[in-house]
Amino acid sequence: MANKRLTPQSQDFSAWYNEVVYRADLADLSPVRGSMVIRPYGYALWENIQGAMDGMFKASGHENLYFPMLIPVSYFEREKEHVEGFSPELAVVTHAGGKPLEEPLAIRPTSETIIGEMYSKWIQSYRDLPLLYNQWCNVMRWEMRTRPFLRTTEFLWQEGHTAHAGAEEALEETMRMVNIYAAFARDWAAMPVMVGEKTSGERFAGALRTYTIETMMRDTRALQAGTSHYMGENFARAFDITFSDEENALRYVHTTSWGVSTRMIGAIIMAHGDDQGLIMPPRLAPVQVIIVPIFRNDQREIAERVLDASDRLRQELVDVGVRVRVDAREGLSPGWKFNDWEQKGVPLRIELGPRDLEAGRVVAADRLSGEKQPLGRDEVAGVVVERLEAFHSALYARAESFRDGHSSTVDDYDSFCKHIENGWVHATHCGEPVCEQAIQEDTKATARCIPFDGLEAGGGCVRCGGPTGYPRRVVFARAY
Ligand SMILES: [Zn+2]
Repeated sequence: MANKRLTPQSQDFSAWYNEVVYRADLADLSPVRGSMVIRPYGYALWENIQGAMDGMFKASGHENLYFPMLIPVSYFEREKEHVEGFSPELAVVTHAGGKPLEEPLAIRPTSETIIGEMYSKWIQSYRDLPLLYNQWCNVMRWEMRTRPFLRTTEFLWQEGHTAHAGAEEALEETMRMVNIYAAFARDWAAMPVMVGEKTSGERFAGALRTYTIETMMRDTRALQAGTSHYMGENFARAFDITFSDEENALRYVHTTSWGVSTRMIGAIIMAHGDDQGLIMPPRLAPVQVIIVPIFRNDQREIAERVLDASDRLRQELVDVGVRVRVDAREGLSPGWKFNDWEQKGVPLRIELGPRDLEAGRVVAADRLSGEKQPLGRDEVAGVVVERLEAFHSALYARAESFRDGHSSTVDDYDSFCKHIENGWVHATHCGEPVCEQAIQEDTKATARCIPFDGLEAGGGCVRCGGPTGYPRRVVFARAY
């Protein structure tokens, strides 16, 4: 299937997305509606995301733990906004062991409630604080409309849950984690992100503040790639998480939660891919370099020499820390293999044939620029490491200039409606949820965030003319 042309992005972005997910072997349909099978190529990408992020969490003092998947349904009723936010999506186990259960058990849509219950036991004194825990797990939300990686009933994620003695410390943590997400996006996924706060209309159920990273896809729509929430005392009150402070007074803790999911894979696909397929950011790419030996099956001796040389080159690259494979599949033409790995988005391809072998060189092809260049055989390992770094920077720069070229600042509603067709719009807003709602009805755009380093608000609300609700402009966009 790999060599069938993809639907061009400009023709039907959504068809392009689905085709690339399946043809590049990231995922497959599952027999259960709305869930997906993540194949090895997609899972290796997730493992690289997970590894990079987990390192950042641990370096900032967090520890991993694991909670069970089943949560008593009654727990969800303790925090009012939380239950309203999640009850329509709950999948509930009512029977087990051939009998109805006394209390139905929800499959976790998120774990605040069960974690709250345990934290109330683990936290007694100010000496127990802060608790800085994270878990990597699966969750289930019964979504009606699903798409691979973007929205599936079951997905993989990490959820961090921390408890602190006071608001200031908890807010610092909320900010620390959204900044870690932003650094991950920039330094690993080569994705520029807008970091900011959600408007009250877009906040997480039960949160007082929600911080987010928003990134632009190649169809100019926005994708929320990670969020960090400050819960205040809401969950502490619902789950009775108290501690005695230095003066022996009983106080509620302040909690945070933060998460990134397999949606990040959808973001990487749509932020970087082109009409030929995926473009993998090199630092996360499951395969950074593919070596394609050029040989004919009817010339055994030459084929063996080429394969041997390819294998030696592979080992040299492994030794300098490059993730590399040799495509030695028989009966497939080099052109077919080139297309296959281009579709999978491997950053660099090295071609090695009998003539290259004699001339002491290889040919290197770059997935982003499409350029092909001969490299001296002895310099390959060094050059490849540099090229991968340069690839990362070029990919980031391309995404950033695309985003900036599709962003506008407007002061009146006519311009707003015009420019929202072209991408993101920075505008002054009153902060009223009904006004946000009206904008959404008119234009399908939602308030993505109030960027921390955003432009100052000025004049009245772009839609209703009312007084500004925030000191900075709000970014509106159509979103996934
Ligand atoms: Zn307004």
